[in-house]
Amino acid sequence: MRYAEVAVNSPGSRSTFCYAIPPHMEIGIGFAVWVPFGSRVVQGIVVQQNNQPSVETTKEIAQCINDHPLLLPWQIELAMWISQYYLSSLYNALALMLPPAFSRKPINYFQAVESVLDMTSLTLEQNKLLQFIMQRGKVSSKKLGVEFGNNNAQRLSEQLLRYHLIKRDYKIPQIGTGPKQLAYVSLVVSKDKAETELYRLSHARAPKQLAVLEFLLQQTCAISLGELKKSLNCSLGTIQAMERRQILSIEMVSVRRDPLSHLKTTAVLPPVLASSQRTVWEQMEADWDSRDNSAPLVFMLFGVTGSGKTEIYLKALDKVVANGKRGICLVPEIALTPQTVERFAGRYPGRVGILHSNLSPGEQYDEWQWIKEGNCDVVIGPRSALFAPQPDLGLIILDEEHGQMYKQQDRSPRYHAREVAIRLAQLNDAVVILGSATPDVASFHKAQSGKYKLLTLTRRITSHDHTQMATMADKLSSPSVTYSTQAAVDIVDMRKELKAGNTSLLSRPLLDEMRKTLEQNDQIILFLNRRGTATFVRCPDCGFVFRCPRCSVALTYHSQRGRLICHHCRYSVSIPGSCPSCSDTRLMFLGIGTQKVADEVKRAFPTARLLRWDSDVTGQRYKHEELLNDFRAHKADILIGTQMIAKGLDLPQVTLAGIISADTSINLPDFRAGEHTFQLLCQVAGRAGRGFKAGKVIIQTFSPENYAIQAVARHDYLGFYRYEINYRRQHNYPPFSHLIRLVYSHTNNELCQQELKRLSQSLISKIQTMDENKLSLIGPVPAFVHRVRGRYRWQLIIRGHNPASLLSGITLSTGWTIDVDPVGVT
Ligand code: ADP
Ligand code: ZN
Repeated sequence: MRYAEVAVNSPGSRSTFCYAIPPHMEIGIGFAVWVPFGSRVVQGIVVQQNNQPSVETTKEIAQCINDHPLLLPWQIELAMWISQYYLSSLYNALALMLPPAFSRKPINYFQAVESVLDMTSLTLEQNKLLQFIMQRGKVSSKKLGVEFGNNNAQRLSEQLLRYHLIKRDYKIPQIGTGPKQLAYVSLVVSKDKAETELYRLSHARAPKQLAVLEFLLQQTCAISLGELKKSLNCSLGTIQAMERRQILSIEMVSVRRDPLSHLKTTAVLPPVLASSQRTVWEQMEADWDSRDNSAPLVFMLFGVTGSGKTEIYLKALDKVVANGKRGICLVPEIALTPQTVERFAGRYPGRVGILHSNLSPGEQYDEWQWIKEGNCDVVIGPRSALFAPQPDLGLIILDEEHGQMYKQQDRSPRYHAREVAIRLAQLNDAVVILGSATPDVASFHKAQSGKYKLLTLTRRITSHDHTQMATMADKLSSPSVTYSTQAAVDIVDMRKELKAGNTSLLSRPLLDEMRKTLEQNDQIILFLNRRGTATFVRCPDCGFVFRCPRCSVALTYHSQRGRLICHHCRYSVSIPGSCPSCSDTRLMFLGIGTQKVADEVKRAFPTARLLRWDSDVTGQRYKHEELLNDFRAHKADILIGTQMIAKGLDLPQVTLAGIISADTSINLPDFRAGEHTFQLLCQVAGRAGRGFKAGKVIIQTFSPENYAIQAVARHDYLGFYRYEINYRRQHNYPPFSHLIRLVYSHTNNELCQQELKRLSQSLISKIQTMDENKLSLIGPVPAFVHRVRGRYRWQLIIRGHNPASLLSGITLSTGWTIDVDPVGVT
């Protein structure tokens, strides 16, 4: 007998279960199977095979789902690492790599056994259920539930199962996303026979059939039924009549749904590298060619937006493709980075795969298969594209590696694409490139310490025409590249505006610049940070913000209790009647939206054409691209938007970027608030002046002296980094420690609090017994968003070199979520 360790699709099961492999079953590691689990049947993945069972009694694997393994051994190894590191179920980690729509619930059936002899001892109810099943032969448990009530049906069927009067069966629900099928029509008669038929039809007065036959005789290959009907304006009946006479055949053919079909891509030649790029590329190649395989090779490509990083990615891809390998390129949000997709598609026409959740299930399935067959030199997508079945992986690129979208936060496993990419690269002997203008502070720390290879592009390349990439080929003849300077950044102190009596959202300097820009017929973007509205309290006069004396984060205002609370340590204070710093009595709790900004802009510039871009626009599929294209085509003068505006947009005619309020993200109670603010503002600032004309950026703030804002104004990542890394070191925050965030949610606030108390007490006593004395707990505290959809949330953070060690051997009940290396602790 052989045995299999199977990861099962059931929430909460962290480990694997042992099943016996039926003698006739041909399976191995990586196979998907149906296994009995409790009273159900669930999917499982075989991760190990043994000759001995790991437990005393084992059930048998019920059925094999596919006749070939779905996962390769290194994929299983990667999933094991993910589940161990991120403390998630193994099945959930494996599921990241399974084909789209694989994890579905099976349908349970009941069937009467062949010879039911003795029914006399049955109760009336049991008898009724049995009769019902016998009459129909096979009944799904769902149907029984409808007929007899769920509880009754379950109880009675369990009883009948025990008496061996019925048996259970289950069916694999159709995975409804098989390849798309299209009907194709082709002739099946010889030339001679066709001639005879032509003759017959022309005399039989069947002009439609005649037209179809004539048309098909001209074709060199099968033609789609839809196209045939359209071009000849004939009916399906006409064509089917000819099929019946065996003149033609209609066949279903699998076709690939191409998610890039809406893009008009033209093949583009690579440009000659600029000298800054050449230096970087030479260094990269030297490190690449001389690497030893003891540690994964990770490059940190540090360069401002427009410094030519994408060109380096393409160069690296050329190198791996030349060696018969393939790449994956991650972008934070694919719907917002059509330019990147176009760039890759232009260089690798027809060889680019796209994977993301906005594709229809059918498209996802097709693309997955297409990639698996080795058709794509590069797969582009968000973090999940990391798990594309790309064969012979040689390169993984993370563009904008600091992006928060790379961390899966909403469901388990809460993995970070950067860490997984490095593991994945290690397993495949591939190279990783992390690119960013504002690297993650922890990543840059690794680059500084030599763990990653740091490569820097310092200058911004002026692109002559952003809208027509084809002109790059022309530029080959004049390989001299021009560099442009960064946009000038002005900080506007909003306290002064208030003092001067301007209570509008738009400061006088911003209004001035807007007027100038509009007069020159250039474009403006206005950026509004959506996060953290009205959660902190600020003095309008001196800009004072209430902060926690112990944690140096902004205090959060809780209106129910009328108190300011620290979300790190629970320090709390009631709101005084006036500002502790200047005694002003007009303390502000502000919240603003794009609509309000739009109203004020309209009032100031009644004739300017406005476009609003916020999450309301997300519904439709290509809506973002349409909106962007409209703005790029200068169908509007001013674009007002939230976070999305900041993400990698290429808007060459924008010469002014206005940041309505830089403060909302600075004052979030999170140790990464400074970093996130810096990254966000730099990105917005990077939007202005990408074309020929120099750009201008205006940052409105109540904290003009803040280090992150100051650093943005100087375009000074390194200065920001030095300040930030000191702060992290002093307070023992990552990268000097690791965090695990535990959140418990429940509809009952009291219960929530009790559960946290219980866990924190048991963790505290465990810490005292452990050798590692560096472990500490932050909290329990209410989560920043304390109540979500009627559930209260409390959190506890474990900090230390190896916080996971504290959780080993501890089982958390449902209701807990575990986030290892959280990107935000709010
Ligand atoms: P990044 O990825 O750092 O934002 P890109 O690679 O997109 O920078 O380059 C910025 C602009 O400069 C793009 O429009 C690109 O087409 C152009 N560009 C980059 N490298 C070259 C080059 N060697 N020759 C001509 N144009 C270039
Ligand atoms: Zn505190």
